[in-house]
Amino acid sequence: MKKQVIVLSGAGISAESGISTFRDSGGLWEQHRIEDVATFEAWERNRKLVQEFYNLRRKQLHEVAPNAGHKELVRLEQAYNVQIITQNVDDLHERAGSTHVLHLHGELKKARSTVNPDYVVELEGWELKEGDVCPQGGQLRPHIVWFGEAVPMIEPAAELCAKADVCIVVGTSLNVYPAAGLVSYVPRHAPKYVVDPGEVQAQVPNVTYIREKASTGLKKVVDELLKKENFS
Ligand code: NAD
Repeated sequence: MKKQVIVLSGAGISAESGISTFRDSGGLWEQHRIEDVATFEAWERNRKLVQEFYNLRRKQLHEVAPNAGHKELVRLEQAYNVQIITQNVDDLHERAGSTHVLHLHGELKKARSTVNPDYVVELEGWELKEGDVCPQGGQLRPHIVWFGEAVPMIEPAAELCAKADVCIVVGTSLNVYPAAGLVSYVPRHAPKYVVDPGEVQAQVPNVTYIREKASTGLKKVVDELLKKENFS
């Protein structure tokens, strides 16, 4: 049976595709205060600004493509069961070809009803507008987990982490909770790789740090893991 690799990915894996990260200088959040665009209070206070912010992110997403880092994780699937757990709201893992992707913080290309949270739709274009409503007449909002909101996928994600044989953490500053706590559910004995050009520290045993960008860092990790299973 194939071994289980859990990949915990964050904004950094999409940086080489041209999507700004969260906290790096020049990151998209520098131009906006979190409270102004990514909270429910912001939505209630200034819907237009929130819609515009996510419409622009969505528009940008239609203009970018998966990079070598996303593709390395697809290559790993020949020898391992690879489950990606991403904080990203983009769909670049899926577009690269990864088959198991769990989105912790929602998905930019989807919208959901403000009166019925089970009503989730895929958007055709990039724009979500005032007056776009669900069949019950409720305004549609971005299908994003905003700061201060519950993270419904955190329990399934923790269960997956507990079954990992290997874990790769890539492109996350491990600052946003509860996502950052997931690595501590990975069994002690499982080898863990942290791929990030920054000084990220994972407070868990058995970690190898690869201080590189996702494209080159993941190539090294994937080559090593494939070799262990006699693939190349
Ligand atoms: P973060 O910005 O806090 O951390 C990004 C990390 O990526 C940093 O440690 C940085 O050193 C690293 N990094 C920068 N360039 C890299 C590269 N080329 N290769 C590998 N690593 C690189 O991001 P986070 O930890 O994911 O937390 C961000 C929050 O913002 C999440 O909630 C996420 O939903 C949201 N977000 C998502 C996207 C997206 O969907 N692409 C983009 C920005 C923010």
